[in-house]
Amino acid sequence: MENNGNGVQQVWNFRPNEAVTGQKLFGVRGVLEYVMSHMNPKGKSKIPLGHGDPSHFECFRTSAGAEEALIGSIRSAKNNGDAPAAGLLESRRAVADYLSQGLPYKLSAEDVYLTVGCIQGIDFAIKVLGREGANILLPRPGFPYYDSLMAYEGIEVRYYDLVPERDWEIDLGQVEAIADNNTVAMVIINPSNPCGVVFRRDHLCEVAETARRLHILIISDEVYGNLTFGENPFTPMVSFASTVPVLTLGSISKRWMVPGWRVGWLATCDPCGILKKTKVIEGLKNILNVSDSPSTYAQAAIPQIIEKTTEDFYGEMLNLLSHVAEICYNRIQKLDLLFCPAKPEGSMFVMVKINTSGFEDIRDDIEFCALLAKEESVIVLPGTALGMKSWIRVTFAVSPSLLEEGFDRIESFCRRHAKNL
Ligand SMILES: *Cc1c(COP(=O)(O)O)cnc(C)c1O
Repeated sequence: MENNGNGVQQVWNFRPNEAVTGQKLFGVRGVLEYVMSHMNPKGKSKIPLGHGDPSHFECFRTSAGAEEALIGSIRSAKNNGDAPAAGLLESRRAVADYLSQGLPYKLSAEDVYLTVGCIQGIDFAIKVLGREGANILLPRPGFPYYDSLMAYEGIEVRYYDLVPERDWEIDLGQVEAIADNNTVAMVIINPSNPCGVVFRRDHLCEVAETARRLHILIISDEVYGNLTFGENPFTPMVSFASTVPVLTLGSISKRWMVPGWRVGWLATCDPCGILKKTKVIEGLKNILNVSDSPSTYAQAAIPQIIEKTTEDFYGEMLNLLSHVAEICYNRIQKLDLLFCPAKPEGSMFVMVKINTSGFEDIRDDIEFCALLAKEESVIVLPGTALGMKSWIRVTFAVSPSLLEEGFDRIESFCRRHAKNL
């Protein structure tokens, strides 16, 4: 309301949609902004362990082949126009071949839709399935973009837990208990953001069988696909597509360390033709016709990005991630008041439990993160943003020296605020 000068308040017709003013739309960025607002401008330099974007560090620079592919795409002058709604066919084929490596069932170019990062793949999957009354099962802890989008779209969220005592496995008994006839899908994130776990093949097989029993499909967020450096190899969910239809989401953002390039994909993995029969494919195509596409020059570069990136690059990145994950885990092990239930084996994140009762003046994860930002300029994500009070999420995808410095500061912070027993 505004005063019109006569002291009379004029009522405007507009106001923001309640769906965008609620807490739900904070997302990771909003919560990190809140944490960073506590930083002392005259304090130490910032150590960003909250948001996973390693592209800022020289050691995580993308492959030379990927850079050449993008430059070549621009220089060719062939990619200055619009692309088809589903993406350039050759690029879709390259992604289909990439995703089919080592699988019994091969994806075709028609199974792949190019998206503006993995984020738009999430949009498409949720929107195509979110009919009136539908609910979708999300992991807790998970990736808050799903929660925000579903709140915005008015789709009911039901949470299933990842169990820290069992290496963050999915509580499948709970999945069965919370699903009903309006449950349309479950989301899994593998390798996991935020837990750093890589699901075992036999566990994924059980997940597929559970989804089949419940007559729901699986949205498999594999944006960290192949970024694994532990005991368990990465198993793509499409391995079980003959049991249950799968929408596989991915992008070049994480494996190639270029989240700013904004190219991803949604692949429909459905050898039994269920998605066609239920008209999900038709719905997807309709959504694509009224949606934005990744830049033509970036999507056109995909076949070359895949082809020109060498095994050496992938190997180097995995060695580096493995090294920083090790530093992160070992440093946490040495801290009395922080606890990490499972050593990270994939992705760029780990969940850490805070023993709040051991601190003098810190009651919860939000206070922990705010005070750590204020005193040490170290930024970590409060677990509350992921549905996990008294936990924090830490990314280890930063340069090794910065990570060590970050933990030096966290260590002295914890010592300073611990109760004197
Ligand atoms: C980073 C991330 C995304 C988004 O990926 P973009 O390709 O940058 O859009 C999606 N899901 C998860 C779990 C992520 O961590």
